[in-house]
Formats: sequence, structure tokens, C-alpha cells
Amino acid sequence: MEHDSYMPMTSVGSGDLIQVADDVYCFTNQIVNLCFVGNSDNWVLVDAGMPKSFDKIIEQAEEIYGENAKPKALILTHGHFDHVGAAAELVEKWDIPVFAHTLELPFLTGKESYPEPDWTVEGGLVAKLSMFFPDEPINLRGISQLPDDGTVPGMPGWKWIHTPGHSRGQVSLFREADRTLIAGDAFITVKQDELLKVTLQTKEVNGPPRYFTPDWRAAEESVQQLAALNPQKAITGHGVPISGEELQEGLKRLADNFKELAVPDHGRYVTEQKNDRD
Ligand SMILES: [Zn+2]
Ligand SMILES: [Zn+2]
Repeated sequence: MEHDSYMPMTSVGSGDLIQVADDVYCFTNQIVNLCFVGNSDNWVLVDAGMPKSFDKIIEQAEEIYGENAKPKALILTHGHFDHVGAAAELVEKWDIPVFAHTLELPFLTGKESYPEPDWTVEGGLVAKLSMFFPDEPINLRGISQLPDDGTVPGMPGWKWIHTPGHSRGQVSLFREADRTLIAGDAFITVKQDELLKVTLQTKEVNGPPRYFTPDWRAAEESVQQLAALNPQKAITGHGVPISGEELQEGLKRLADNFKELAVPDHGRYVTEQKNDRD
């Protein structure tokens, strides 16, 4: 019974760590979230935070799973620098496999760079973020594509769902049993202009971060796909975890009004697509 597995979200430790569901923890690292999923016998890390967050991630892993805790795998929702910051160091330390969607692999193996952030939609924001931008594309050893059958290595009961738009090979992760969703940046729960104000963020379902989203049509379809899952709880790449009606109504509203709510009025990746559709 799905309602039997309902549990409230609770803060753990310093408050940067929130238990969202059974065996699912959300850790907010600066402006970005990552997840610990599983129990001490079998857990995985989903995403790897901002650059220079290695020590923090190890600390949180040990807080949840005990000293020298080591995951079975690292799963990446996508490869933007704010989600892979500690990936190389963690993989090196733990000697674990990494998985991402096959379309995301070129960006994670040094073969391709992401399209440039769209300065015209969020200039100030990107300027602020640019101090963290890595010098060169990441090249992760031991990375493989997620299994074709939709399963997620180390995460029994979860499925991956291709949710492109914000990035070509972005995936979201969904557990049917309690309808828990890890959405990556397919949508976020913070207003675009409050993304960097972590302590002042308003909780609200919003479209993907604008500065990095090159394909708005695919992004819209991805949000519609996620809304159709009717998730009960969600952890997004940015903003606080969200649940219940607040999530379901917010996501439906976003899916039904994506062009008005999510797509910027103008911008490098927008004009052409908007003209097509109007
Ligand atoms: Zn992103
Ligand atoms: Zn992000």
C-alpha cells in the first residue's frame, strides 16, 4: 500500500541533510542537491555536487551510513558542472562504477562540451556562477551507460526515465512503490531569480534552470512526462524537496502552462522554437 510507506520529511544533523523517504536522503551542497539512496548494506550516490565538495559529501555519507561507508555506484542525472563537481575524486577514492544516459556520455568523457550558457536570459546569474566553472570538460573513468531495461544499478525498485531538454541525456529516477522522484534539473523547486539565494528560497515548482537549457520543446515534454507519473515526493537539482499536493498541483500547473511559466521571453535557444509554435 503506497500510503503505508508515507513518511514526513525530516532534517538530519546540521539541516543540510533531509530524509525525504524511506532510504532516500537529500543533501544540499551550496546551491545544488544530491541524493543518498539505500541502506548501509547497499546504497548509491545520485549526483556529485559542486566543485570542491568532496569532503562534505564523504562527511554526509558517514553521517548516514557510518564510518568508511562506500556506495555501490554513482548515478548522474546529467553532467553539468554543478552536479559532477566531486565525481572524479569520489570515483577515485571509492573505486566505483558511474552511470549516466548514453547521450550524456560525450560530456562526461571529455569528448564534447555543453552548449554555452545563455547569457541573455540570466546574465547576472551566469556571471556569478562562472567563478565555479571548471576549466575543461570532465573526463570520468569507469563511466558506463545506464542499462537499456530502465533499471538503475544499485537502486532496486527504481527506474530511470529519459528527461531531455535541460541537457541532452538528462535522466530522472522514479520509485513506483512510494512514487518518489529524483528529477535532476527537469524542473526545480525554486524561483529562477532566487537560485543562488539558498537561505531565502521560495518553494515553488519551476521550469529547469534557464541559463543552461538549450531545448525548450524537449524540456516541456519531459515535464509533462514527469507530471503524468503523479509523484508523491520529489527531489530536484535545486531548491528544497517537495511533496503532496504542493508538488502535484505545481507540476501540473507547470506542465499545462510551460511556455508561459518556464520558457524565457527571449534568449539564444528560445526565439526559434517560440516562433515555430505560436
Ligand atoms: Zn543542470
Ligand atoms: Zn543544476
